[in-house]
Amino acid sequence: MNSTEIKERDRRYILGTYARNDLSIAKGSGATCYSPEGKKYIDFSSGIGVNALGYCDDGWVKAVVQQLQTLQHTSNLFYTEPCCELAEMLITRTGFDKVFFCNSGAEANEGAIKAARKYSFMKYGKGRYGIITLQDSFHGRTMATITATGQDGYHKYFDPFVEGFSYAKPNDLEELKAKISGSTCAVMAELVQGEGGVNKLELEYVKALYELCREKDLLLIIDEVQTGIGRTGKLFAYEHFGIRPDIVTIAKGLGAGLPIGGIIFDKSCSHALEPGDHGTTFGGNPVACAGAIEVLKRIDEEFLEQVARKGEGMKMKIEQMDGVLQVTGLGMMIGISLKNKDAKRVVKSALDLGLITLTAKDRIRLLPPLNITYGELEEGLGLLEEAIK
Ligand SMILES: *Cc1c(COP(=O)(O)O)cnc(C)c1O
Repeated sequence: MNSTEIKERDRRYILGTYARNDLSIAKGSGATCYSPEGKKYIDFSSGIGVNALGYCDDGWVKAVVQQLQTLQHTSNLFYTEPCCELAEMLITRTGFDKVFFCNSGAEANEGAIKAARKYSFMKYGKGRYGIITLQDSFHGRTMATITATGQDGYHKYFDPFVEGFSYAKPNDLEELKAKISGSTCAVMAELVQGEGGVNKLELEYVKALYELCREKDLLLIIDEVQTGIGRTGKLFAYEHFGIRPDIVTIAKGLGAGLPIGGIIFDKSCSHALEPGDHGTTFGGNPVACAGAIEVLKRIDEEFLEQVARKGEGMKMKIEQMDGVLQVTGLGMMIGISLKNKDAKRVVKSALDLGLITLTAKDRIRLLPPLNITYGELEEGLGLLEEAIK
């Protein structure tokens, strides 16, 4: 099919919930992809932070294909090697206690919310179920996670929403404190808000929030669905802040192209969910896990240093571009505010020039593949500069 045929069929048959860009992607390699007609694009979006190793990375493809030819699925009623190997890698590298595998970020957050409530129920009994999240957060699209998402735009049409969520202003500890009551059980936050505008939380705020949660026995759930798996130059963003969450949720980059999510539990609360409390058919799928194992193998300390270095380099170059007001973010998760320019229009111009970017609120957002080559990075930044002009 050519681009026109694909777009026509898509519009005819697929529910119109996405504001798609005017581009059909047919194939890719590294940070470069092509339309069916062969037009080339540098991709600074990674399929929204998923393609951590770019398109069709050799090692990842090999790991996935090998597993696909061995065992593609069994149920969670049985043991499999990829699943336990991936779990061991995550636990060894974080020093946490247990992991639960699911299929998406929303599902990971949904499970974290359940775990926090169960933890509190076991310790304090009924009624201590409140979860405080931050304004401008994004936690997913299920009923509980849209409720958790601290943006009014998500809180319409689907009433009644899940009870027990309240929203605090980021970087204002006093305000958050005022929201804590006898019925609060947890705080959930992204450390760099992704969809909400690439807003990095302040170091002192995060440290104080961590202490506050410990003092009040509130579980601290850090949503690392976008920031995790090397995106910020460390395996997890929380490492930049010198804190230790009780629960960390992951997805996006872990799969590198296959659907997988996870909830990592610290010892504090790894006992909360017990047999029968939670589950999902596809969770821990051997093929998705085999791909994720390859991702984690590749993201070693040297790789992470490269991510940090590339992120710094990008920030420096973008800050010097005409029309750029401010660069936010951490590592290779970058937000750009513009002087008197509409981010959506710049993203469209960039696409016309052959560069794929994202927006987050009124900023441009960049999430290039973590292993992008310096050549592709240079080329993409050149196109970005032109698009902003
Ligand atoms: C993308 C995202 C989610 C939702 O993940 P899905 O896989 O789309 O369900 C949740 N939290 C954050 C921070 C995200 O960026």
